[in-house]
Amino acid sequence: MKNIPLASPDIGEEEKKAVMEVLDSSILSIGPKVEEFETMIANYSQRKYAVAVNSGTSALDLVVRSLGIGPGDKYITTSFSFITTANILLYVGATPVFADIEKDTFNIDPQSIEELVRTDPDIKGIITVDAFGHPCAWDEISDIANKYNLSIIEDSCEALGSEYKGKRCGSYGEAGAFAFYPNKQITTGEGGMIVTDNEDIYIKSRSMRNQGRGEGGSWLDHVRLGFNYRLNEISSVLGIEQLKKIDQFIEKRQRVANTYQRLLSKIDGVTTPVVKDCVTQMSWFVYVITLDKQIPRDTVLKRLREMGIGCRNYFSPIHLQPFYQSQFGFKRGLLPITEDIGERSIALPFYNLLKEDDQVYIAESLKQIIESL
Ligand SMILES: *Cc1c(COP(=O)(O)O)cnc(C)c1O
Repeated sequence: MKNIPLASPDIGEEEKKAVMEVLDSSILSIGPKVEEFETMIANYSQRKYAVAVNSGTSALDLVVRSLGIGPGDKYITTSFSFITTANILLYVGATPVFADIEKDTFNIDPQSIEELVRTDPDIKGIITVDAFGHPCAWDEISDIANKYNLSIIEDSCEALGSEYKGKRCGSYGEAGAFAFYPNKQITTGEGGMIVTDNEDIYIKSRSMRNQGRGEGGSWLDHVRLGFNYRLNEISSVLGIEQLKKIDQFIEKRQRVANTYQRLLSKIDGVTTPVVKDCVTQMSWFVYVITLDKQIPRDTVLKRLREMGIGCRNYFSPIHLQPFYQSQFGFKRGLLPITEDIGERSIALPFYNLLKEDDQVYIAESLKQIIESL
């Protein structure tokens, strides 16, 4: 039987050689590689500064803390995301307010943002997510942020390389964050990066990732509350070699997406992802289809797995997670579109090296399952 994973990294000889060189160098943390990786990501994402950390979650946490967000502060965000997007507010005692999403891109809906802001003057900003790599509606969101004086934090963890009208995701808000878990466009094993043009965020997040040490101070001078969120040299050099291949990776992923589009658009009951005209470069993170309402999604997931096909219900809305329901009393019905898409979506196997004959097998299996129901 086939065994096709949901995701798989693309690691070449260059990565292995570079990692071995670091292991032989005896500098395994706080060395030249992390700085080189930061410079490369800053340039790539069209930003002045980059700060490397040990996960995407750490990156977002430090942005929130650098901005001084705390108890009583409300931020609008999307529930159709990975749990981190909202958790970063809870870490500092702030409150998430969930907007609904667009039916086609699954990104936060500007109209829903504006309705919430208009009725709640305590809202301080927006945390955006470029879902599955598709950029948010940046013109509309930027206009609303300007009109109501809101700050924007970009959870761009799924969109390294994606562009909206020629400008990269991660370059729109006060700061952006990228993640390098093995299922992302590039990986460092675990890792993340803050990108910003704001010197204050840069200085504070650099300090906080390293136990709150001051700039240029001695090893035991701690000027603020800090953490150990450092990215080590082994991970950094892995990231450097991966980032060198980003254009090639984006191209490979586009090819896999095109093949899916060709194979799946013929199947009744399946809707393939939309890429809008404003997207001048799509850097695919995952490939998520939606099923028509009458098809029992969870049965399809189960059958696909039985046929050796990795798949998942991306995303299960944050506001319906048991912890969020018990903490905030969120109920089904709060976000109709988020909930509807959350019940009908499936992430299919998606990675650079996914073979075309495996994609044919996946498409045929899906067709067979749907027709048998
Ligand atoms: C991957 C991801 C993150 C960060 O994940 P880590 O596992 O902490 O690196 C944050 N937000 C979104 C939307 C993500 O997809």
